[in-house]
Amino acid sequence: MTPNNKYRNTNIGGLSEANIGETKRVAGWVENIRDHGGVSFIDLRDMYGVLQVVLRDTSLLDGIAREMSISVEGPIEKRDEETYNPKIPTGTIELEAKSIDVLGKVYKQLPFEIQTSKETREDVRLKYRYLDLRKKKMQDNLSFRAALTTLARNYYAEQGFTEVETPMLIKSTPEGARDYLVPSRINLGRFYALPQSPQTFKQLLMVGGTDRYFQIVKCFRDEDLRADRQPEFTQIDCEMSFVEQEDVLNTFEGMMRTLFKNVIGVEIANPIPRMSWFDAMDKYGSDKPDIRFGMTIHEITDVAKGKGFGVLDGAGYIGAISVPGAADYTRKQIDELTEWVKRPQVGAKGLIYIKVNADGSFKSSIDKFYAPEDLEKIANAAEASKGDLILVMSGDNCRKVQTMLGVLRLEMGNRLGLRNPKEFAPLWIVDFPLLEWDDETQRFYAMHHPFTAPKPEHEKYFYSDKKEDLEKVCANAYDFVLNGSELGGGSIRIHNADVQKRMFEVLGIGPEEAEYKFGFIINAFKFGAPPHGGLAFGFDRVCALFGGQETIRDFIAFPKNNQGRDVMIDSPSEIDQTQLDELQIDIRKE
Ligand code: ASP
Repeated sequence: MTPNNKYRNTNIGGLSEANIGETKRVAGWVENIRDHGGVSFIDLRDMYGVLQVVLRDTSLLDGIAREMSISVEGPIEKRDEETYNPKIPTGTIELEAKSIDVLGKVYKQLPFEIQTSKETREDVRLKYRYLDLRKKKMQDNLSFRAALTTLARNYYAEQGFTEVETPMLIKSTPEGARDYLVPSRINLGRFYALPQSPQTFKQLLMVGGTDRYFQIVKCFRDEDLRADRQPEFTQIDCEMSFVEQEDVLNTFEGMMRTLFKNVIGVEIANPIPRMSWFDAMDKYGSDKPDIRFGMTIHEITDVAKGKGFGVLDGAGYIGAISVPGAADYTRKQIDELTEWVKRPQVGAKGLIYIKVNADGSFKSSIDKFYAPEDLEKIANAAEASKGDLILVMSGDNCRKVQTMLGVLRLEMGNRLGLRNPKEFAPLWIVDFPLLEWDDETQRFYAMHHPFTAPKPEHEKYFYSDKKEDLEKVCANAYDFVLNGSELGGGSIRIHNADVQKRMFEVLGIGPEEAEYKFGFIINAFKFGAPPHGGLAFGFDRVCALFGGQETIRDFIAFPKNNQGRDVMIDSPSEIDQTQLDELQIDIRKE
């Protein structure tokens, strides 16, 4: 839209040689000032571009400083050819300033150079986020995010989904994290919780007859902060009635295909491959495998045991990966890798290596116990070729060892440059176990959330009291994974009050607590609830991924820092005593 008011009658980005000879009024920020004696130049920037303003009357420059907002009027002229700037679309023209109005002065020293703010400490950028946002790249990121939102919204609208807003002040729904709580002044001593997701509400919409729901929605989770995790984040959330898993996956695949095609011009696999959770864990040691490269995990327990080497003989599971072409790793490199896996982030006790030399001979850290024939058997089981480096880990708990090997696999993938950022390898992880046993608390937790239904064919185990039986129950639950990141997940839900009650029982939530916390949904399931299922995906991460950048903070206008603080508005902050009194809340000082 072309503006036309006292500040401007065109956007800078819209100007071209076609405007030469016209008098234009533009408004924006002073990016740069260059004084060349008799003549000065200003680079003026708005959201749409940068324009060179030439000041032949240098008195016009009086009082002008960088990052002021100004309005300038004058004719558009062609630049002298030797001063063309091929880097900007307006590089062959300039505006000769006849008058300048200062609209917003700069009163303080700029805390950082806006164009190079990436080099500034992030907390400083975040404190002055409004300055950081002036940078073209940040504005581009916001526009990019908005374009993705529009595409997603249009897709869901075309598919007949109804966009419904669910409340932000709700009751605690456990989804694995802690809730952010909001005290209620008019119901003293009581608290709302901010939604970790609209899960129960979207299910209630299905009971209410909304056939297909979607929402672009803020969610709040009070989790320990990890790199690139925000306490509040955005989901694209959907739910559908009278559906099976296939319907949900197809709908979502359609949307991802639309985004990939329209945003980055990539045709993704059709259909998107699927892998069971069990295969993902066995082969990749992760429920979000990066399948851009192989180097899969092989179990070598049978061939590696019984040779008198205590560590392996005593292990319940032994696994290996074959790192292609890494047999020339030096002693030093292997020692460094061994230290790397011993870090708490990986948690391995050690690392065994077997080099398959180019001539087919072996060199290993276990040569004392294993004859070449034994090593060959291991190499075959690990599907190693000549020139490969086999890395072996062992332990009692198969999943723990696989997880450590999975981390090592990713690291080796990085080191060998096998994780091409330009390649996109999406996949569905399906058939998740319904429950996850926690040794520490000696109870089951829902692997996805407590509203996920057991597979009908596994219901017999679901009603068993035996831990081994309950461990066998799987769900029609699914995650969308891309290049080693989980972008979204969902499931077919419970829609029967008795099954839901049983689920709470299995999770160790007694009938009274279940009634108190979830009575509303159990009740709703007593009134002809339709079978339903859905999915949600993390929109911030999708933006960062499609935008080809590593941090989601670059795609959030006002993110929190890695301590969960907004350093610009200084939040969280202390509360006035009057406010506390109104809420009858005392703060313990210790
Ligand atoms: N509410 C779930 C989540 O936030 C997604 C879903 O099951 O639809 O992960």
